[in-house]
Amino acid sequence: MAELVEIPSTDPERFRSVVPAERFEEFLRGSEEARRLLAGRVVWNVNSTARGGGVVELLRPLLGYARGVGVDTRWLAIEGNPEFFETTKRIHNRLHGSDGDGGPLDDRARSIYESVLAKNAAAISELVRNDDVVIVHDPQPAGLVPALRARGTPVIWRCHIGVDEPNELVREAWAFLLPYLADADAYVFSRDAFVWDGLERDRVSVIAPTIDVFTPKNQELGPEIVEAILRTAGLIGTGGRPGRVTFERHDGIESRVRRRAQLVEDLPLRGEDPLVLQLSRWDALKDPLGVIQGFAEHVPVATGAHLVYAGPAVEAVADDPEGKEMLRRAIAARERLPEDIRSRVHLAALPMDDLDENAIIVNALQRHARVVTQKSVAEGFGLTVAEAMWKARPVVASRIGGIQDQIVDGESGVLLDDPHDLAAFGAAITELLNDPRWAERMGRAAHERVRDRFLSLRSLLDYLELIRKVLQVD
Ligand code: UDP
Repeated sequence: MAELVEIPSTDPERFRSVVPAERFEEFLRGSEEARRLLAGRVVWNVNSTARGGGVVELLRPLLGYARGVGVDTRWLAIEGNPEFFETTKRIHNRLHGSDGDGGPLDDRARSIYESVLAKNAAAISELVRNDDVVIVHDPQPAGLVPALRARGTPVIWRCHIGVDEPNELVREAWAFLLPYLADADAYVFSRDAFVWDGLERDRVSVIAPTIDVFTPKNQELGPEIVEAILRTAGLIGTGGRPGRVTFERHDGIESRVRRRAQLVEDLPLRGEDPLVLQLSRWDALKDPLGVIQGFAEHVPVATGAHLVYAGPAVEAVADDPEGKEMLRRAIAARERLPEDIRSRVHLAALPMDDLDENAIIVNALQRHARVVTQKSVAEGFGLTVAEAMWKARPVVASRIGGIQDQIVDGESGVLLDDPHDLAAFGAAITELLNDPRWAERMGRAAHERVRDRFLSLRSLLDYLELIRKVLQVD
């Protein structure tokens, strides 16, 4: 029970080139302190999967850098059976405010949940020593907290999900989990509004998610390679495909871009066409139909701009019938547009066979865009926003969820008060397209905002401060 996940250590020296010197010095001081404070201790991270999903994406680089500075951090993924994961999926869906498969969180669900976690707790107890620190991630392993606390090990519970306005379903999931959490030494949420009622406020910290800027998704790419990647992937131009286009995988190995996106378009984009991009899953919460309609009706043809709505190839996501249906509806909405407008709207399904290749295409698209939008109607954090801001793009996005923490309206992006106001959406895009100097200023401010608040260095220092508090060291 419980799988030990390998974490390659990463040298944080590479941050020296992307953050101001005083920030890097602050990090080095923090690293020194972390080594002293945590000497002889292990910082365990426990979650429910070693592969796939946003939490894994977030954890891998953070733990890699922690190991890189000499902190002994390790990662355990709990094991469960299908019934357990059915129950935890139910909890997960409720925490997002939806009832998922409609099944109950009743006594039976509780006994399934507890019996799987009891087995994991026994296995984990053999590994963890009393003066180690355990960070338990998300609802799946939350039920381990009492067993770990009972032996005196400091435990932090980190919740990666949340909604702005909890409904009854959300509260039902809280009620299910709260009994396990009472004894945790600290709770961490991604934003203030996500903090649950019923937790002791003094023990709550807020640590925002961060992006890893050295992965294929975010690594630096010059304009020529950007265009070459987009041509190779079929997103720009006809014929004249460039030669070999290579990029660095997340394990440092060089690789080629080979696959092409599937496009729904009249004519391909030309390299010089000003591009408005929304990159999101084919999901109603990302409002692809509103993006298409808002662009079609409120961004004048005179701007010369083209819209690309790009999402994952839907056949790749086997368990996502909703995605297929949403793509079908987006294609139909595009078909209904008058021809001169339709020809400016492109739908792209990006190849998902190789995730590093998908990431480098996303990276190139974001860098190539003149304006990036994120017109979601619900959002936890909204990683696509931080990704585009890091690339110095001006972002037009809804004032919801974690997007509000990322963008300072009018400075490092534009926030839309009403995600359904298509005229305001179109006007903000048009203004940025018509005023490149303003767009550039905003992009620069966006990059600095991400650099200062949403990089791994920040998060590691936040965790250090929290661990210091939990260990009651001044
Ligand atoms: N993404 C991707 N390929 C796609 C579409 C999206 O890699 O075709 C990525 C995107 O870059 C981001 C993540 O999926 O890293 C989406 O995270 P976000 O928080 O924006 O939204 P979620 O999909 O989790 O609701």
